[in-house]
Amino acid sequence: MSLTNKILLGMVLGVIVGIVFNLLLGGAHSPPTQGVGLVVKTYLIDGLFDIVGQIFISSLKLLVVPLVFVSLVCGAAALGGQSRMGALAGKTLGLYICCTSFAVALSIACAVFIQPGAEVNIPTSSNFTAPEIPSIKQTLIDIVPSNPLQSMVETNMLQIIIFSILFGIAISRTGGEASANLMTFFNNLNDVIIKMVMMLMQLAPYGVFCLLAKLFSTLGVGVIIDLAKYFFTVVFVLFLHGIGVYGALIKILSGLNPIIFFKKMQKVMLFAFSTASSNATIPITLRTVEHDLGVDNKVASFSIPLGATVNMDGTAIMQGVATVFIAQAYGIDIGIAGYLMVVLTATLASIGTAGVPGVGLVTLTMVLQSVGLPVEGIALIIGVDRLLDMIRTGVNVAGDAVVAVIVAKSEKMLDIERYNNPSLNVENEKA
Ligand code: ASP
Repeated sequence: MSLTNKILLGMVLGVIVGIVFNLLLGGAHSPPTQGVGLVVKTYLIDGLFDIVGQIFISSLKLLVVPLVFVSLVCGAAALGGQSRMGALAGKTLGLYICCTSFAVALSIACAVFIQPGAEVNIPTSSNFTAPEIPSIKQTLIDIVPSNPLQSMVETNMLQIIIFSILFGIAISRTGGEASANLMTFFNNLNDVIIKMVMMLMQLAPYGVFCLLAKLFSTLGVGVIIDLAKYFFTVVFVLFLHGIGVYGALIKILSGLNPIIFFKKMQKVMLFAFSTASSNATIPITLRTVEHDLGVDNKVASFSIPLGATVNMDGTAIMQGVATVFIAQAYGIDIGIAGYLMVVLTATLASIGTAGVPGVGLVTLTMVLQSVGLPVEGIALIIGVDRLLDMIRTGVNVAGDAVVAVIVAKSEKMLDIERYNNPSLNVENEKA
């Protein structure tokens, strides 16, 4: 069985086992206090499943900083500060911003039409308090690292990207033997880290099973029923954007076959779904985009880590629908100007959302505040957010890969034969 199918099987079994345990044991609301139920909960769900699930996430995260640093140094050194570098960065960022703004506009249009918040009862007391959002000024200052080691320790992706690019350019500009030796060294190191990615990927089916079994045994899916209209509106727009819009973009802007893209990206989306973290998925996204889709390392090593940090179309979609939902639930009309403001702030909020689970809900406060909606409204949707987080993270990472493919194609840095070759799949590589 291929690795993708094994992961898929792990995912389905994990969800089923989790739901069964939830029904038998009572989930988070009424956990078992004695007997077999307590033993299963303590040793299996909170024990084995939790341990294997956490180890799986850590094994992915451990690769992120070394991989992004080494891969980006290789990419930037190979480009060597050529004039194409600016064009490449500009196109990537421009496409990220356009796609995200379009995603928000689409989500608002669908939510206004479907009216998910029309008959919602607002609870009198709410336990959601707004977190503090850093100012734009501080965010801009923080892009440049004052201590690159600290950036790496804290996995501050933007700072790592800046440092790696500068370092790579400096290597190529130094010239002579120093340049050549360092480039060989970093290219060799890159190969070694990729081998580690391949090795740790083999853990995925078991990790995915345990993560989902643990999650669904505590969460249950009953929460969806109360918020069905909101939940399915978000899911509908995520699919519309993730398949329809991305498929059309690949076809129109690069003339490539979108079905091949989705087939090859399947495993990446499964990783994103089960970890709910674009950051933790970077190693798999980067490898798939380069190896399976044929995007040159010079484009992929920049666009994938950057996208995992700033490009969150799925998150922006959730924020668009959530804002309309909360406005409808509270009976507040924010008007056309309000919706335009939401497009702007949700795009900014998704840029500011870190690629880790649950942050999209936190940055939603910024969007709500910008149009004067009550932040406590978030309490209405918090129950289904974890499930939505998993699905939207899949869209987030797919969006990064779409842009990488389009930019690479336009810069003649896409190996089209590789893209079209169905047997080129990272999972067939030897671990
Ligand atoms: N979990 C999302 C991601 O990592 C971010 C979010 O929407 O909370 O892409």
